[in-house]
Amino acid sequence: MKTLVINCGSSSLKYQLIDMETEKSLVQGLVERIGIEGSILTQKVEGKDKYIIKENMPNHKVAIEHVLKALINKDHNIIQSMDEIGAVGHRVVHGGEKYSHSVVIDDEVLESIKECSSLAPLHNPPNIIGIEVCRELMPNTPMVAVFDTAFHQTMPKESYICPLPYELYEKYGIRKYGFHGTSHMYVSQKVAEVMEKDIKDLKIVTCHLGNGCSLAAVKGGKSIDTSMGFTPLAGVMMGTRSGSIDPSVISYLMEVHGYEINDINEILNKKSGVLGISGISSDFRDVLEEAENGNERAKLALNIFHYKVRAQIAAYAGIMGGVDAIVFTAGIGENSSVTRKECLKGLEFLGFEIDDERNSVRGKIQEISTDNSKVKVYEIPTNEELMIARDTVKLISNI
Ligand code: AMP
Repeated sequence: MKTLVINCGSSSLKYQLIDMETEKSLVQGLVERIGIEGSILTQKVEGKDKYIIKENMPNHKVAIEHVLKALINKDHNIIQSMDEIGAVGHRVVHGGEKYSHSVVIDDEVLESIKECSSLAPLHNPPNIIGIEVCRELMPNTPMVAVFDTAFHQTMPKESYICPLPYELYEKYGIRKYGFHGTSHMYVSQKVAEVMEKDIKDLKIVTCHLGNGCSLAAVKGGKSIDTSMGFTPLAGVMMGTRSGSIDPSVISYLMEVHGYEINDINEILNKKSGVLGISGISSDFRDVLEEAENGNERAKLALNIFHYKVRAQIAAYAGIMGGVDAIVFTAGIGENSSVTRKECLKGLEFLGFEIDDERNSVRGKIQEISTDNSKVKVYEIPTNEELMIARDTVKLISNI
């Protein structure tokens, strides 16, 4: 069966068509600038020229119509008609406490995803639009929602309850939810497979280091803690996000220096992290280059990033009573050997040794620890789309 995976953002949309018999991705596409002047769709197929549509796409409906047109375009010759799409899997950021697993979408499910929107006002609304438009354009195709929060629903109370008045949890759902769950689940399962071990016997720390960064403690195949929290702002420092800071900074800036809450949100989400400290960029490649050139603020930004990740790895090894494998994934984790090495510096006491030659490999499954290491360290490219497609096929085969 060919499964379409949709990841709808506020002004962008990523998609893949995956042949689930071979688990091969047939097409990868990206629509950018939806609702903004200069909309563009770029579709890639291995061994062929890119297929590009530059047309006004004022909303997600028009964008998804173009996606369907691109999928049946003659040059790429992937599918002849939309009927060949057996199912659609949608990435949904927040499933609240209701969804600890993926779910087949019907009217009731759609309603409860809408109810979770207040918890993720930036993320869930575009996900919902993507679902609604696909249901309108493909009314007979089964659809499944796969939640970023679902994998972390196994966390025990001591890791997800915030030390605030308990009624804030009961009344408003304020707790740690965690994000990037599909990625943490994929790489933890993959590393167990590569190590030829039963995941039930493993303690794994997964480090998803991309534009957003989060770590998870995965014990026996279950997430028992993760660094993002009520929102994806918490945890380690990121490209533009602060990660966890003393919350009093907010009232101080507002009361003493007259900042408005919108300014604060903008600072914490878009102007902090590696960008905020370096003053250069949120893109690690730029900051790494500047640090190489001797820029002190670039060096400081990277040092703080490494320190935060290192501390989080150590904490998770601690709460699990040890660690069998540490996994790096996502844009930075898969590509930057320097970042991996620096994030692990000083943690050798856990029982690993890094092999520099192995660590120089980029973007593929690779053990980067030496054969003698008791604790194994890996880089594993994440594949959230495949995970979404797998869940989609599994669920619709039960309908
Ligand atoms: P993602 O959100 O997973 O797409 O990751 C995006 C991040 O990966 C950006 O900060 C990029 O700078 C970073 N990245 C991509 N390639 C490299 C690389 N070769 N070295 C360092 N960082 C990289």
